Amino acid sequence: MYHHVKNLMYTVNVGQPDVKFGNMLLEQFGGANGELAAAMQYSIQGFNCEDAERKDLLLDIGTEELSHLEVVGALIRMHLRPMKKDRNAAETDPLVAVAGGGGVSLVNSVGDAWTADYLKVTGDLGVDLRSNIAAEARAKIVYERLIHFTDDPGSREALQFLMTREITHLRAFTAALESMERPAFSIGTIAPTPGLVDEFYKDSTGIDPELGEENASVIVKHAGLHLVESPIFKGEGLDTKPHKPVAGSETAGRTREKKRAS
Ligand code: MN
Ligand code: MN
Repeated sequence: MYHHVKNLMYTVNVGQPDVKFGNMLLEQFGGANGELAAAMQYSIQGFNCEDAERKDLLLDIGTEELSHLEVVGALIRMHLRPMKKDRNAAETDPLVAVAGGGGVSLVNSVGDAWTADYLKVTGDLGVDLRSNIAAEARAKIVYERLIHFTDDPGSREALQFLMTREITHLRAFTAALESMERPAFSIGTIAPTPGLVDEFYKDSTGIDPELGEENASVIVKHAGLHLVESPIFKGEGLDTKPHKPVAGSETAGRTREKKRAS
């Protein structure tokens, strides 16, 4: 059950409206890492979840994201207001000004419509929680960039609040994943092939001018993987023989086969 409280989660005060900045803020309204995407992703995952504790956590955070949508929507509305009457302001984004009346709609900062394709819902709790940790990290960095692009104190304070909450969520999702007490790289139910899983293929040749003889090997060893030289050195694994096709020997597609038969 959803319930609306007639208060914003965070009171928004904007000094001088900045329509260009309002447009940038749409990224957090109807964008890929925006608040609606977060609200829908966690809520839908929650509806699917059969683990009572984690279901509760997903739905609580999903609901908070809806409250964020309301806050960021209020912020955008205040910044876009000049678009309603001022021709110059309207020219900043004719789609928002003329089609949307200078208000918020479910588009991102360049006018692309919001899409459910933004959502990562796999039905596997461990995988979904990993997606959510990454989603919170993306939301955090987008807010940080937005903060850098405004001098308005009220806007900065509201964005600082929203950005902070994403770190809180990141911590909660991490705790939810860790408390499942599965080994770090255990996904699903089928075990990976022993041996093969420890191989890191060195799929490049040449020496990087910055790294010199050094390469990714340090990171790879740290991960308990071992480097396997590229098969191209030994001439195996890659067919480099010149290809001489014979006319008429190509494999035909099904449609063509059918036409031939008729
Ligand atoms: Mn949020
Ligand atoms: Mn969040």
